[in-house]
Amino acid sequence: MDYATLAVERFDAVCRISLARESARNAQSQQMLDELDHALDAAAGDASVRVVVIAGRGAHFSAGHDLKEAQARRADFTVEQRWEYESRRYYGYCLRIWDFPKPTIAQVQGACVAGGFMIANMCDLIVCADDAYFSDPVGHTLAAAATEVLIHPWVMGLRKAKEMLYTGEKVDAQEALRIGMVNRVVPVAGLEPATLALAQRIAQAPPFGLRLIKRSLNRTADAQGFRTALAAHFDTHQLSHLSEEFQAVRERGLAQAIQRNKKGETA
Ligand code: ZN
Repeated sequence: MDYATLAVERFDAVCRISLARESARNAQSQQMLDELDHALDAAAGDASVRVVVIAGRGAHFSAGHDLKEAQARRADFTVEQRWEYESRRYYGYCLRIWDFPKPTIAQVQGACVAGGFMIANMCDLIVCADDAYFSDPVGHTLAAAATEVLIHPWVMGLRKAKEMLYTGEKVDAQEALRIGMVNRVVPVAGLEPATLALAQRIAQAPPFGLRLIKRSLNRTADAQGFRTALAAHFDTHQLSHLSEEFQAVRERGLAQAIQRNKKGETA
């Protein structure tokens, strides 16, 4: 299967799915999200695949959702249309990564921002390069209630998640390692081999046993209210798309909001 926005490669029992819109810093278009879900579905159904790596081609893992496309196609969505779109492509696709029946590893370098960060954090493990940085700045830039899937407190701790979301500031690779949000930090040149080596090691385990381990680990989070909290946040996020604050950002341009934030202007 050939994809326009992804590259899929096999290394024995490891399937690596790379976001491949380098010129757009791997911004996630609708097509990319649909293709990623399709590629994951194929990997889930292929018994010869035991571990999946989600990576990004080029200097950055992903800059997040494609805001130019969002402005052009979805700025005037009704509540019903936005709910349908985001519940399927953001919430639904993310939970499918979380529930993926095999171990997943995010391989991250450079920017891992907003919608890109959301996807990396749905993976079981993260290996990152020492130039990686993670942020969810959309409270500041778009006046949105974070991204659609509030995974962060579950993988970085409540205190750090609050700091990151209130300030909109980046978490660098070493800090991500220190707080336990990523598993390993390696030099940029060693990122691919280090991630593949970890994936190959995991792939040696009997797959059904691994699948059960993953189910139980994820149920540990479910027992603490993981799914209920994520579902509640999705609804809250939808409310933030209707606020006067968000409407003001939308009228000034969603994609331009990032530039305004860099210049220190408020959203
Ligand atoms: Zn949204």
